[in-house]
Amino acid sequence: MGHPRDGGGRRLIVEAKRVITLDPDRPEATAVAVEDGRVVASGPVEAFDTWAGGRVPRLRLPLGVVYPGFVESHAHLMSMGMQAEALYVGSPPCRSVADILDRVRERAAALQPGTWVVGVHYDDTLLREMRPPTADELTWAAPDHPVFLSHMSGHAAVANWPALERAGVDAATDAEGLVRDGVGRPTGELREGAVRLVARHLPRPTVADRVRWIERASRECLRVGVTAMADSALGGDDPDQARDIWQAYRQAGSEGLLRVRTQLFPTLAGRAHLPIRWSDPMLSIGPVKLFADGSIQARTGALSAPYHDRPDLVVAPFWREEDLADVLADLRREGRQVATHANGDAAIDTVLKAYARALGEGRRADHRWRIEHAQTARPDQLDRMRALGVLPSFFVAHVELFGDRHRDLFLGPRRAEGISPLASALARGIPFSLHSDAPVSRLNPLAAIRTAVLRRTSSGAVLGPAERIAAGPALCAYTAWAAHLGRREHEVGSLAPGRWADMVLLSRDLEAVGSGEEPQVMAALVGGEPAWVAPGCALERGGAS
Ligand SMILES: [Zn+2]
Repeated sequence: MGHPRDGGGRRLIVEAKRVITLDPDRPEATAVAVEDGRVVASGPVEAFDTWAGGRVPRLRLPLGVVYPGFVESHAHLMSMGMQAEALYVGSPPCRSVADILDRVRERAAALQPGTWVVGVHYDDTLLREMRPPTADELTWAAPDHPVFLSHMSGHAAVANWPALERAGVDAATDAEGLVRDGVGRPTGELREGAVRLVARHLPRPTVADRVRWIERASRECLRVGVTAMADSALGGDDPDQARDIWQAYRQAGSEGLLRVRTQLFPTLAGRAHLPIRWSDPMLSIGPVKLFADGSIQARTGALSAPYHDRPDLVVAPFWREEDLADVLADLRREGRQVATHANGDAAIDTVLKAYARALGEGRRADHRWRIEHAQTARPDQLDRMRALGVLPSFFVAHVELFGDRHRDLFLGPRRAEGISPLASALARGIPFSLHSDAPVSRLNPLAAIRTAVLRRTSSGAVLGPAERIAAGPALCAYTAWAAHLGRREHEVGSLAPGRWADMVLLSRDLEAVGSGEEPQVMAALVGGEPAWVAPGCALERGGAS
């Protein structure tokens, strides 16, 4: 081992039965020496007996295996906290429109008339009727309250008549994404840009609300072993909102309420209100987030061939290639990293062409421009990503959560098999990350790793067995490679010297994932200190041994 230098900071030795460091110079250890929250060295326990005169305090982890803390490369921390306080209308428990209406009615009865009822996570293709509730139905359930329910993808919503009236939306409103019935009357459903018509009339959260959401969600991260987090689209197109969010994050950070190291991705408009670089131990600025399409499960993803069950439906990417390339050229001049959301292969085509234009052919600078979700990336598109140095971040939970519906409804069997093509990316040597997009799916890296290994859908079918990968690369995609995609590899993602001593203790080797004897998260350490410990898991403190 490299012997710890004597810097004179706050020191600690973390001892464990086994530590997987993901540091190529020392892949396994039984102790990690920590100074001022960062790894100084790792090695066998005995190697540190004489460090600083042998008087360094010790923290002993009694069981299992230690890994670098999980790095969530694409999620929405503050929305997680916000959604935890909203009315949940997802499936389960809601199996029908009537189930949703019952919940809305019950919530409205507890609120003053005129107060908004805000619900989250409805999923029309899991309802018996295969459609969301209508404005008429929601008005019947809550005639005296404006109601706004968002789709689980975040790319659609439904509102009742009191909500539409407050937003000034009626049959005469001309807006793309405002869904109408056979006679031209709005149904209450809003898609993509039209969501904002009503969303902007929701009560504006205070900075204190936002701080509370950040705190609540960052505690949730620790329970699933996530010690480095992301808030992956921040600011929308509203400058006041961007300023408030930035203020809330800084306040949560300075008050010790932000418990995981969080990277914020500004939106195109939001970037004017955030610094280009910001680095304190808990908060940093990540790539600028762009959107090239919506969500396949909301039928707003841009596919090159029609939807399996809706051959009439054609969805175009949000950008024309030339316009996107112009914006990208500006971002490149600003020295920005870029992460563009693209689910459908037509959107991925547009992004790759625009990236190539903006980056210039033959240039191989370390730009690390990303494609988010890349759900239906084709083999030729993976080849192109490799050639351009473009990095995909895969939302692998799509396979579990929507795999059955992709096969039967949205994509058909052939295209569904190829979603989240992890093995194909691995075979090409493309570094990629796995992410949860929480709160779109529940934040749970172990579950995502299991899906990468098994590709089992919610019905138990195996979807696209050729795209399964082993636990080892899946772990890298949730740690070291995820850090690389966020340009955070010198901070997080491994336990190499210089990185934060952020660790997750699992009850057993990660290789057991998918075997039925699933590893559990027992503790999360941030900067070497226990930030969350499972009930019944006793960590021992001691002096020098
Ligand atoms: Zn997202």
